[in-house]
Amino acid sequence: MNEIKIFSPGTVANVSCGFDVMGFCLDNVGDEMVIRKVDQKGIRITKIEGFDLPYEADKNVAGISALAMYNALDLDFGFEIEIYKKIKPGSGIGSSAASAVGSVFGMNELLNRPFNKTQLTEFAMKGEAFISKCEHADNIGPAIFGGFILAKSVSPLQILEIPFPEDLYATIIHPQIEIKTADARGLLPTEVALQDAIKQWANLGGLVHGLHSGDYEVIKSALHDVIVEPHRSKLIPHFQEVKEAAIHAGAVGSGISGSGPSIFSLCKGLERANEVKAAIEAIYSKTGIEYDIHVSKINSKGIKILN
Ligand code: ADP
Repeated sequence: MNEIKIFSPGTVANVSCGFDVMGFCLDNVGDEMVIRKVDQKGIRITKIEGFDLPYEADKNVAGISALAMYNALDLDFGFEIEIYKKIKPGSGIGSSAASAVGSVFGMNELLNRPFNKTQLTEFAMKGEAFISKCEHADNIGPAIFGGFILAKSVSPLQILEIPFPEDLYATIIHPQIEIKTADARGLLPTEVALQDAIKQWANLGGLVHGLHSGDYEVIKSALHDVIVEPHRSKLIPHFQEVKEAAIHAGAVGSGISGSGPSIFSLCKGLERANEVKAAIEAIYSKTGIEYDIHVSKINSKGIKILN
């Protein structure tokens, strides 16, 4: 096999109380990529459709992660990468992570899988680090492992896969404004009050337990972020209204997806997720701001081969 086509999924990082450590994988939102083995040595990006992004391998996250893997091997051939982007860069639903993951996953398949999922995560994190200036796995991890993950530690990398209820769905609104992860990070406090830290780690523990046991009441009581959301939500137009409408329509919780501007809501069942979608649209359709809205089952498989 010399060529592989893949679906690289969008992901929701942070999940309210799990800033920088928690993430989950989406089912029907994602990019397509083609990875090809070629005689010429090195990594080349030969096609990008959908959005205007750099072709230089060392400036595009897909190329940076591919180079990290390529340089760890001693190969007498190279790879070409084609990127068919559906997730807008800067959306907060893991656009850069989808690209970073796609190239290394595809190369690994063409090489007959010399690397495991944790190693692929490490290579892909090099691409993400280029954008956000720090290594984190809360988008990369769920894209590679699927489902919900807790990035327990970055060095050494430890990804924990968290079981979650079968009927868990996400509704995601993506207002068409751009917030760069690097800018959103600049708003964060450098110190946190102990009382806030206590609330946050109680919530994160509660969220993990609620997901494990499938207890929606516990998930609902845990999906709060007292540290990051109060600062970052200021960058997202109509955030509070959306959150209140989603919860009123039956979402178990709602928060900023990644560094925004997308907002996620978690719901029990498809029907409820669609009701939440309608409630959010009722607000956003009046704002004059363009938006996309998605309803997705939590994707338990992660990145996948299309051919
Ligand atoms: P997101 O959460 O959507 O990934 P980020 O702000 O983390 O948003 O990343 C988007 C930034 O990464 C943009 O500045 C974009 O130009 C840059 N970038 C470089 N290569 C890629 C790529 N292949 N896909 C998406 N963004 C990329």
